Amino acid sequence: MTPPQVLWAPSAWIGGRWREAVLLEVGADGRWSRVEAGSACPPGVQPLAGPALPGLVDAHSHAFQRAFAGLAEHRDGADDDFWSWRDRMYRVANAVTPETLRAIAAHLYVELLRGGYTQVCEFHYLQHEADGRAYADPLALSQALADAADDAGIGLTLLPVVYERAGFGAAGLRDDQRRFRLDADEAWQRSREFERRFAAAGRTASVPLNAGVALHSVRAASAESIARVRALTEDVEGPVHIHVAEQRAEVADCLAACGRTPVAWLAAQGWLDARWQLVHATHVTPQEIDAVAASGAGAVLCPSTEANLGDGFTDVPRWLASGVDLAIGSDSQVGRSWREELRWLEYGQRLRLERRNVCAQPGKSRPDTAAVLFESALAGGGRAAGHARWGLERGARADLLVIDADDASLLGLPHARWLDALVFSSPSRPWRDVMVAGRWALRNHHHARVEHVAAGFERAMHALWAEPARN
Ligand SMILES: [Zn+2]
Repeated sequence: MTPPQVLWAPSAWIGGRWREAVLLEVGADGRWSRVEAGSACPPGVQPLAGPALPGLVDAHSHAFQRAFAGLAEHRDGADDDFWSWRDRMYRVANAVTPETLRAIAAHLYVELLRGGYTQVCEFHYLQHEADGRAYADPLALSQALADAADDAGIGLTLLPVVYERAGFGAAGLRDDQRRFRLDADEAWQRSREFERRFAAAGRTASVPLNAGVALHSVRAASAESIARVRALTEDVEGPVHIHVAEQRAEVADCLAACGRTPVAWLAAQGWLDARWQLVHATHVTPQEIDAVAASGAGAVLCPSTEANLGDGFTDVPRWLASGVDLAIGSDSQVGRSWREELRWLEYGQRLRLERRNVCAQPGKSRPDTAAVLFESALAGGGRAAGHARWGLERGARADLLVIDADDASLLGLPHARWLDALVFSSPSRPWRDVMVAGRWALRNHHHARVEHVAAGFERAMHALWAEPARN
């Protein structure tokens, strides 16, 4: 039996505020067995190098899109929008192999650790060969993501995606979507098989892995399939994610096909509950936000991607006022730091409303903008990844970010304002150390496999882009 690992932080973020002199003990299961503020540093224990924050969950990632970040920032024709971006993104989606996916994802996951994420939810719709044939191991591409998580040392929640038609009323998929095809039973089987495989291998203790299920969207999954997922997941805790209302065209198509907008339609079926996560939920009405709040479902916002794709603004103050937790996601991977996502959540609203500190809630004794957004992303992210507990509390996984107290942006600031500065004063290298499930993934800014992982990524990028992508 491994003795408990004892840590001591000069200050740590517990229960929504900074607490001083915090003793943190990691049990043999990689979870916090003790979290106590106001404790003296035990003899022989080296204090952490700076204040500690819990790690956040990246609640929405398509890892392969990392290979496309920075390569879509030019306009060749008269117009460029989400749909023209998607056509170009499909070239990458159809060119990756299990080997290149592992290399791309491992590099991304090291970057996400550096960005303060300790868990990533993969909304995983690459399932088959590009021509639609099954791999000999049907989980080949899921395995690639698990191996990448292991290479990086980050937690992974795999979400196999139901994807079965090109749009409302379409009989099937486009040729360039063939490798995505999964029905509800297949997606659920893959989710269960993934968990069984890693539980059997005894690997859940070294890299925490779990699985839920996802539906691509109300346009790409039929009502029957959504109902089937609802039935299959009736008795399990695992999360159910769905893209919803990201684009006005999708909202209009849903209204025409179903008589309601996507969120209103999902809510009206009675399908939403606390396990459901609505990804983007950009174009929604106040009534739809209230319906989500009443159902207990969460929302996952991806502001840097939504800005990059020109999706639009959702009504963040309304979501917060309704009590819905807002998880965040790196999605298309143009941003890989939660600080950037939280900053954009607030800045989008400042630009939209011509006001400042829009997300602060002074009426609820929560006047600090960064704290409101961080707490929302902390609670929402934990749930989005299927964890009953998340953060610096007994029983939650022992994940931790140690702030680099020497970062130039923090010098001279009172400790009480450090979270504000982390989000709004743009430190360049904020996290000195990062712990995942009781193991250090980053130590004094160094990742043990960084050279190997970066070299693999460069080779994968060369393989993808050296010759014109297939299809
Ligand atoms: Zn997405």
